[in-house]
Amino acid sequence: MTTSPVLTFHDGNTIPQLGYGVWQVEDDVAEKVVVQAFEAGFRHIDTAKIYGNEAGVGRAIERSGLTAGDIFVTTKLWNSDQGYESTLKAFEDSLERLGLESLDLYLIHWEQPKQDKYVDTWKALIELQKRGRVKSIGVSNFTKEGLQRVIDETGVVPAINQIELHPFFNQAELRAFNKSLGILTQAWSPLGQGGELLDHPVITAIADKHNASPAQVVIAWHLALGNVVIPKSVTESRIQENYAALDVTLDAEDIQAISALDRTAEGSGRIGPDPAVSDFA
Ligand code: NAD
Repeated sequence: MTTSPVLTFHDGNTIPQLGYGVWQVEDDVAEKVVVQAFEAGFRHIDTAKIYGNEAGVGRAIERSGLTAGDIFVTTKLWNSDQGYESTLKAFEDSLERLGLESLDLYLIHWEQPKQDKYVDTWKALIELQKRGRVKSIGVSNFTKEGLQRVIDETGVVPAINQIELHPFFNQAELRAFNKSLGILTQAWSPLGQGGELLDHPVITAIADKHNASPAQVVIAWHLALGNVVIPKSVTESRIQENYAALDVTLDAEDIQAISALDRTAEGSGRIGPDPAVSDFA
């Protein structure tokens, strides 16, 4: 079986480039599908406190018989827990639900610019890393301004920025900004949540050309761009199919054609909230 390439953070730790995300998966279902993801070859799981399935992910890890060194686990601090002391506590609660001794990657889930607690929150993540509770620390849904501010105020650069990113919203500008600071880019909703993107004639034509599925083509595009990518599915055959995207190699022309699907200029590419203006509990 092909194994995922790994990318190296600026802190020297590594992350499997292809992972498995579990947003909108019930806790008991998460236990089942994460075991299936491990069986398919995935070794990197992306969860969050707000997904309500850290315990299910933890049970899957226990059932799998894999050891902490074999797998890479990310979870995220929820918005209502932002602030220094509350972050330290929320982290320990997440770790307990996951049943882990330490974590691979902890992210601030949203910048929440109006709430304006993200610098103190970032300081707590720095402290957790110093204490050896978490190997790497990063952010999710951070704007250029938020990234620059945490770096200016603490001197510590996030390892990764997990952002909405798919062919209809390819984030060329923020990807370049992340890269300029040594920050890896991780793509959420990498398949555009399924639907229209996977039926797009440009995607289906490239899929036919490579004898691959549309989802595999989109995942292969992310891998070629250097994104860390965490597709979700709760269907075992699709979980296996998504992992097998590692065997699909696109040529430069394919990559360009998929990148040209971007709808940012039309203002219609984004599916989720805009991190620059969204503040929610
Ligand atoms: P996604 O883009 O991964 O799409 C998932 C959907 O695509 C599935 O529900 C299914 O309908 C379809 N699909 C998956 N595999 C398929 C296949 N092989 N063939 C056909 N259809 C297929 O969407 P997502 O779940 O929003 O994003 C992935 C992960 O990103 C999440 O599970 C979560 O871990 C993370 N995420 C993070 C944030 C954040 O704010 N940080 C937000 C959203 C998602």
